[in-house]
Amino acid sequence: MSTILIVEDNEKNLKLVRDVLQVKGHSTLEATTAEEGIRIAAERMPDLVLMDIQLPGMNGIGALRVLRADPATAAIPVIAVTASVMQQDRNLITDAGFDGYVAKPISLKEFLEAVRIALAHGGQGTASAGAPD
Ligand code: MN
Repeated sequence: MSTILIVEDNEKNLKLVRDVLQVKGHSTLEATTAEEGIRIAAERMPDLVLMDIQLPGMNGIGALRVLRADPATAAIPVIAVTASVMQQDRNLITDAGFDGYVAKPISLKEFLEAVRIALAHGGQGTASAGAPD
């Protein structure tokens, strides 16, 4: 079982993602702004963050930069969740260094597969600052 932080300002999407993850046996944490998500990530060290891109205030790409800049949270996998399907936007998200991408409206099968892959690779990302074991 993993602890997954959902950063999402849309109540309906938040509920959908929360319910699906809990059915699969995961614990969930929730934030409705990037700033709140960054704070909770640092305090609770989730195994994975699901990051909405369109958020009030700082957006999801800005939030990823903050998480990556802090050695404490740099290695937490972060999946982008966004309605943006334009190739240009998608490139921006890929270039930003997210560990995965899920398009809205969410396909549950694709969503759970992205979560599974990100959790399997957790802590092995290029951003990991840990010493070799
Ligand atoms: Mn949003």
